[in-house]
Amino acid sequence: MSTSVALEAARRRTFAIISHPDAGKTTLTENLLLAGGAIRAAGAVRARGENRRTRSDWMKIERERGISVSASVMTFDHEGLMFNLLDTPGHEDFSEDTYRTLTAADAAVMVLDAAKGIEPQTLKLFEVCRLRDIPIVTFINKMDREAQDPIALLDEISSKLALDPAPLYWPAGSGGRFKGMLDLRGQKFIPFGKNREEGHPDPVAFNSNAIVTHLDPDEQGELEEASMLVQEASKPFDVQSFIEGHMTPVVFGSALRHFGVDELLATIAAYAPAPKPRAAEKGGAETHVAPGDPEVSGFVFKVQANMDPNHRDRIAFFKLTSGKFTRGMKLKTFSTGVRGETPSKQMSVNAPIMFFASDRELAEEAYAGDVIGIPNHGVLRVGESLSETGTLRFAGLPNFAPEILQRVRVKDPLKAKHLKKALEGLAEEGVTQLFRPDIGSDFIVGAVGQLQFEVMADRLSNEYQLDVIFEASPYAEARWLTGATADLEDFHSKHRTAMATDIDNDTVFLAKSAWEIGYLGERFPKVAFHRSKERS
Ligand code: GDP
Repeated sequence: MSTSVALEAARRRTFAIISHPDAGKTTLTENLLLAGGAIRAAGAVRARGENRRTRSDWMKIERERGISVSASVMTFDHEGLMFNLLDTPGHEDFSEDTYRTLTAADAAVMVLDAAKGIEPQTLKLFEVCRLRDIPIVTFINKMDREAQDPIALLDEISSKLALDPAPLYWPAGSGGRFKGMLDLRGQKFIPFGKNREEGHPDPVAFNSNAIVTHLDPDEQGELEEASMLVQEASKPFDVQSFIEGHMTPVVFGSALRHFGVDELLATIAAYAPAPKPRAAEKGGAETHVAPGDPEVSGFVFKVQANMDPNHRDRIAFFKLTSGKFTRGMKLKTFSTGVRGETPSKQMSVNAPIMFFASDRELAEEAYAGDVIGIPNHGVLRVGESLSETGTLRFAGLPNFAPEILQRVRVKDPLKAKHLKKALEGLAEEGVTQLFRPDIGSDFIVGAVGQLQFEVMADRLSNEYQLDVIFEASPYAEARWLTGATADLEDFHSKHRTAMATDIDNDTVFLAKSAWEIGYLGERFPKVAFHRSKERS
């Protein structure tokens, strides 16, 4: 292990924001970038988005629906730390993409709307974080609007998420009566400036005379009482418990008014963990790859195609797990496919990209925790492990069983071949899943949500000039099969019409209902039906 490599990794903070749509993730992202000095004026994130939209037609959906469907990363250097903020799409149809992005996060910020508390999508995303032991910082947003009782919000975190909330600050009022918040550890009062132009006044000691300019005696009494009560009722913040995923530090604020955002960033800087060692497989044995290990390694958690329509390039988002990456370095993929028959591919990474908020730059070097974009022509797939020796394989990037399966046809039959290539491209990106039934010439496309089909139709039309029709398919579920060869062949021969292969050529059974899977599971006990497949 190299000390300088380990030290560089130790100053990385790679995190994602999870929230229910409309809780304020975009606004908070922008304000975190502002707090981190990455952008100068609010509005830049959206402006960048607009710019992207005008360049990429399929983003029309984003504009029409007012939702964000593209995920990316933003890197900024602040007070000696390198922050990598992973942007996750908020709409639930894109949860699969979000899940994958979370595999690259070392911490998460959970944004709650103070009036709404924990919403369905928050809960779903929280569960993924828990599954992966990702520590969570809570930001209770929109305090400038009428909020729920903050004690009730903490109770909800505790009861719905089985997570101990540890408030680091306590708010004084909300909505029109929102006055600011008390730093519970420093007994400093941070006033909320009502006047947008003037910003927020400087913090004052809570027990000093200066407090009277911000709080009247009743408000002071209330805040003192509430803060004492909450400190008695909640466990004190404990970093270890946070890292282990049992406790969440809570910060209150208003992303829109840039209040509480500096405190949130400081909380992330102080407590969010640097990248941890990651479980991997090497030569058939289990191992752990540490951030300070000399060999460069990592995995691809997202592939985005046609970010620039002038080039048919794809960008693979690669999260480094160890080593010091330098531009021009040769990396090898671990062989793909469940059966592992695809040989390892080697590539020289000559034009790696770092995504800074205002600009994209060539990455001259990168360390564990960093995310770099590797342009390629479809060689790199989601879930792929890359390393200098090509012998490492990181586990844990799932491919979820799709919840909707549809048949896809191209209107012009002469373009059938073209369709195959386009569908394969989108499947390699992880946008949708593609199944080729053993019998017949149709393609079955699987997605987690309906919106994915719309995105797909839009992209096929704009990027590949293909007009397609989606039709109902007789299938409701897809399952990957494993078992002894003889048992699999037996099953196969009896269900030929429902057998298909995925893009890795792995066998998939297309079932008409969940009930059918249960029934066949009993009849073929030696065949295992998997809802997901871990990609190598
Ligand atoms: P996202 O869907 O989670 O990305 O949410 P956005 O950041 O787009 O915010 C949704 C809406 O809430 C927008 O109209 C924002 O202006 C508004 N919003 C976000 N943060 C705040 C806040 O702190 N206070 C108020 N009053 N509105 C906010």
